[in-house]
Amino acid sequence: MELSQLGEFGLISRAKEIFIPSDKEGVVVGIGDDCAAIKLRKGFLLIATTDAIIEGIHFKLDYIQPYQLGIKSININLSDIAAMGGIPLYALLSIAVPQIFSVKFINEFLKGVKDGAKRFKVSIIGGNVSSSKNEFSINMTVLGEVEEKYMTLRKGTEAGDKIFVTGYLGDSAAGLEILKSSPGHPSGGWVAAVSSQWRKKLVNKHLMPIPRLKEGRFLAVKKLATSMIDISDGLASDIRRICEESNVGANIFIKNIPISKSLKSKIRNPKSQINLALYGGEDYELLFTVKPENVRKLKSLWKNMKTHITTIGEITGKGINLINPDGKTIPLKGEGYNHFKS
Ligand code: ADP
Ligand code: MG
Repeated sequence: MELSQLGEFGLISRAKEIFIPSDKEGVVVGIGDDCAAIKLRKGFLLIATTDAIIEGIHFKLDYIQPYQLGIKSININLSDIAAMGGIPLYALLSIAVPQIFSVKFINEFLKGVKDGAKRFKVSIIGGNVSSSKNEFSINMTVLGEVEEKYMTLRKGTEAGDKIFVTGYLGDSAAGLEILKSSPGHPSGGWVAAVSSQWRKKLVNKHLMPIPRLKEGRFLAVKKLATSMIDISDGLASDIRRICEESNVGANIFIKNIPISKSLKSKIRNPKSQINLALYGGEDYELLFTVKPENVRKLKSLWKNMKTHITTIGEITGKGINLINPDGKTIPLKGEGYNHFKS
């Protein structure tokens, strides 16, 4: 069988079969969530996440500046810490760099990582450097902690819970479309020249997504979220992960999916907007579920938060469906971005 048939999720399942069950004492969460969680001392868990970011696969250097790439590398890992309700603490950075790259490029990249980490009080404590034949590749690992009683997983939601999302969906994919439609601009220089405000917003959301750490922590500490994930591969993929882990289904109301004014300015067709929100990915917003009796409490406690939240649906017994504005139910097919599948 070829990898294209197995797909990214198939490969992760294979890894899970081979590596699990982990019989090492202290592994509270192993493969299958946004972070692994390890119990080192009473009441507290060490949480760990890692992501590879490869030139040509995840980014192209003709539209992202090294500084922006540094910020993005740390932020997408911090997003996984947010999804567990945790606090990030330390990071390790491994890079493989082609020999022809300039010192200036690497300096700017490292400065981006540093500034991204500093903003969320994370210390870079180590890593690795290697040369590479052709592509620049980055591997970031972030460690953090969460109290056992506050940890929020993909598993835990039940039928009847309301589904919420932070921010707006589809902006990152729209930003990438803008970047791709203007190729050949040196190291993102084009971005500085982006004229309209909405274009800038979409492009920045793609280049430097902000991890929803404050929001994730708040939901965890207030014990409002019964399950949580960060949307890295698109709403369609990530709601499926919550449903699989929690053994439930979901109804998503298309008319409730939050679409930003910027996205509406770029794309007029509502169907295309929804497609980007469902399948685009890289929004790094939080998708979470709340018990119906806690929805009022959530809304009133959320008043001081800057980030917008929207109810987009509800958890059911089984099956994942989209509900059209006219009330028609359509089974949600497909998934968002998937490595190995084109
Ligand atoms: P996320 O999008 O939140 O980073 P992924 O979908 O990449 O999560 O991964 C899902 C789970 O599978 C995580 O627990 C991750 O640690 C695990 N995982 C992914 N790739 C591998 C691998 N090669 N070996 C072991 N575990 C893996
Ligand atoms: Mg994640």
